[in-house]
Amino acid sequence: MTRVDILAFGAHCDDVELGCAGLLLKMRDSGKKIGVIDLTRGEMNSKASPEIIAREASESARILAATVRKNLDLGDTRVEDSYQNRVLIAETIREYRPGAVLAPYWGDRHDDHRAAGWLVRNSSLYCRLKKLNSRFPPHDPRLFLFYLLHDYASPALVVDISTYYPRKLEAIKAYRSQFGKEFSKTTVRPIGMEDYLFDIETRNRFYGSLINVKYGEAFLTPEPLNIEVLLDLFKTK
Ligand SMILES: [Zn+2]
Repeated sequence: MTRVDILAFGAHCDDVELGCAGLLLKMRDSGKKIGVIDLTRGEMNSKASPEIIAREASESARILAATVRKNLDLGDTRVEDSYQNRVLIAETIREYRPGAVLAPYWGDRHDDHRAAGWLVRNSSLYCRLKKLNSRFPPHDPRLFLFYLLHDYASPALVVDISTYYPRKLEAIKAYRSQFGKEFSKTTVRPIGMEDYLFDIETRNRFYGSLINVKYGEAFLTPEPLNIEVLLDLFKTK
């Protein structure tokens, strides 16, 4: 059975890279096993096919040194916080048995990000249910953390990723179909700033500035954080 220490969910391939790759790389370097679960395949993506995105996601998983990367194919632009999907998320968490689960912030403006956040939040009950018709025993992750993508909300926690920012960028750039072209050469309307990479750098610089470091990633929690849990889960060498 494959187990991981941290399991990161993204609504789309590249959400995890944009929102929490720095933390994953940091944990990976301290000997922790990480896994990535994408909820959709990008069939509505304007710039590339699901097949191209899948290849780019594998390339990024190699850069992140992820133990597992899997796609649950819940339908691009159609992710829903439904009973069926909560059970599917819980089944995945029960299978890989992480100590910490990461997902997009539940208040993000993108429907899929918001649904993914709520879906993962609400899956925690089903992770624990003994009577759930599951292939795996119950598992209660000690921590759920939600990373920021588009929208800003005051974070509960900022992680210093300064050392890992160049590798995070490498993982993001693995999505050549998404970040390899100038917007003027595509027919896609720019979302946010003209230059995505500048946008990403600005966000990570800003989150870093909140704790007086060069680059940071910001996380929220629905509940107060337990310091013992954080010390146990994120102990670095
Ligand atoms: Zn996304």
